[in-house]
Amino acid sequence: MVLSNRLPITLRRARGKLQIEKSSGGLVAALEPAMRQQGGAWVGWPGGELRGGEKLPPPKSGADSFRLSPVGLSATEVRCYYHGFSNRTLWPLFHSLPGRAEFHRSDWQHYEAVNRRFAEAACEVSGEADLLWIHDYHLLRAAWHLRRLRPGARIAFFLHIPFPSFDIYRILPWYRELLRGLLACDLVGFHCADYAKNFLDCVERLLGERVDHDALQVEHGHRTVQAGAFPLGIDYAAQEQLARAQRAAAPNGERLILGVDRLDYTKGIPERIRAFERLLEMHPEFREQVVLLQIAVPSRKQVTEYQALKREIDELVGRVNGRFGRSDWTPIRYLYRSIAPDRLAALYRDADIALVTPLRDGMNLVAKEFVASQVAEPGVLVLSRMAGTAETMHESLRVNPYNADSVAENLHRALLMSREDRLARIRALQRRERTNDLSAWLRDFLGAAQRERALLQPVSSANFEEWLGAFLRDFRTALFLDYDGTLCEISSHPARARLRPAARRALAACAARSDTDVAIVSGRALADLRRIVGLKDLSYAGNHGIEIEGPGLKPFAHPDSTHFRKRAAELARELGGIREPGVWVEEKGASLTLHYREADPARGEAVAAEARAQISAAGFQPRDAHCAVEARPPIGWDKGHAVLHMLRARHGPAWSERMRVIYVGDDETDEDAFRALQGLGATFRIGRADEPTLALRRLRDVGAVETLLRWLAARPATATRGARRRRVV
Ligand code: UDP
Repeated sequence: MVLSNRLPITLRRARGKLQIEKSSGGLVAALEPAMRQQGGAWVGWPGGELRGGEKLPPPKSGADSFRLSPVGLSATEVRCYYHGFSNRTLWPLFHSLPGRAEFHRSDWQHYEAVNRRFAEAACEVSGEADLLWIHDYHLLRAAWHLRRLRPGARIAFFLHIPFPSFDIYRILPWYRELLRGLLACDLVGFHCADYAKNFLDCVERLLGERVDHDALQVEHGHRTVQAGAFPLGIDYAAQEQLARAQRAAAPNGERLILGVDRLDYTKGIPERIRAFERLLEMHPEFREQVVLLQIAVPSRKQVTEYQALKREIDELVGRVNGRFGRSDWTPIRYLYRSIAPDRLAALYRDADIALVTPLRDGMNLVAKEFVASQVAEPGVLVLSRMAGTAETMHESLRVNPYNADSVAENLHRALLMSREDRLARIRALQRRERTNDLSAWLRDFLGAAQRERALLQPVSSANFEEWLGAFLRDFRTALFLDYDGTLCEISSHPARARLRPAARRALAACAARSDTDVAIVSGRALADLRRIVGLKDLSYAGNHGIEIEGPGLKPFAHPDSTHFRKRAAELARELGGIREPGVWVEEKGASLTLHYREADPARGEAVAAEARAQISAAGFQPRDAHCAVEARPPIGWDKGHAVLHMLRARHGPAWSERMRVIYVGDDETDEDAFRALQGLGATFRIGRADEPTLALRRLRDVGAVETLLRWLAARPATATRGARRRRVV
């Protein structure tokens, strides 16, 4: 199943009558033949709306067919999701032109809502689809919604535009959401290795997920997400044949430089005209000898920026033609319209130079079509380094489109290039494009999408050395750990959640070090926590830090907590009214937890909702945990407050002068500690990666925490200033 912004057909209404046209654009041209061959379904916006009784054409019978599943968009959605967030926010930003990007929350909200609708529409028809293949920047969030609806589906994504570098990408206010959207996929494909690298860099630095940069893989909780470069190719044989089929033009002695682009600010058309002007300035011998034919295909005409660009080009063309033109010769021929493919093939074939100089371009198919069309006298490709194609088309003359002098010099060089040189370059370019054509792209991408992937190697001591070595050096360490889900696996019943012997040994070894404080911070009652961990030399914070005890600490109970003990007991009785098999209430003094892990999974959410409502009604704060809802007294105290309290109580108000903090936790309640420690400590969130986190890094499982403990226990002792101080405050 394919999901893309546009369906391969477009609905138009002429004088009230519905017309169905084939959609234009490279994406449709690339995918439609494959869909015809394979069958399946295509989810997309038909560009217009169906009115009562109107239907899309049914699938043709037989093998040569696929279903169309239209997603209707309201006028507001077209404005906000399509013209707004897709084209005014993502398009310029992803093309590394942040100055042109606009950021509006309502655009984002519509983008999110439309992406959800695409996912829902896909689910309705996805029945037997082996693969859900999402396309392009309009649908960066669709996989996230699909994954919720179809957790086991195989989902792949291909981005047809560039993926920008970290320092550009992070400008986007919704950077986390979009990355998490892509990480809901099994495979994320880009045109270039550079874009894949940028993406992985962002995932690592902005989400703290572990990345294998050699294998291009991300550890996303218990899934592995593969990234990869799959440079899109063209239907080489068809383009070559089209070029051969055109009649040869009669030579008129003029040399032809050809530019073909959609009229878009990423294409660098004004810059190109200035470079051509420089050529005529610097090399007057080419005046009246060389012509620039610029074809600009109208695009996004209703957007004011594009209208302004058109005016700018009109004026520039006028100026250069006024300056260098003669009564019988015009240096720039400028066509503002689209050209039929056969006519275009003839122009490609007969051009001396293709001048392809986008400021930034995901791939650029014009460069490839030009190469495939060189069936007569070989021409020269002058290509922007900022186009995705430049990563592979080594034999072109590569230029910086912002440097008019250099583009002019390269044009000069191309005009003087010998036939042998031109031939050698074109043949090498042709060979690569013939091999890496459209069908090779499809084969490679679909092959990669079907492949099973193992988990990444578990984290090692070397990883912790890299992440924490310099951070901890010369400081004492305060290590805070949650218990359930962090130090031991979540179990069907809290009483069964036991520390593994190896974890216990590593924990004890950390606590035995004179330069390391260890504390367990849990939602369990303090007495329960102390009993189940059973190690001396550790501090314990129970009930989310309402009760604390440990070496060097005066026993602490939050002053307001006693007041809530009675009310918590009443609430426990009320919650007992939820009579559902496998649901039970754990009383912990001033707080309590309702567990539903052993209940019927289909009832889990309903039970949780009812519990949350009762907890709120009783004046407590409900908080979701793993198959449980916690009720906490509303006293403005949480694990974050507890951690800061312990640091202050033990090491004084200036604790941060000599302490470095590590906090490891696995659920929502640990987020309070992650927030409190932002900028102050190294924080790790364990387990599933589909929840957002404020932790700096994610770790897959309890095993990774054991590795951390072993590394901490074994590292060289810190030369602390003065002996270990144990103050009772
Ligand atoms: N093209 C077209 N009509 C024209 C001129 C060009 O359909 O009048 C096609 C051209 O053959 C190429 C595509 O538009 O396949 C442009 O693709 P490219 O990757 O260069 O740029 P994009 O427009 O996708 O940014």
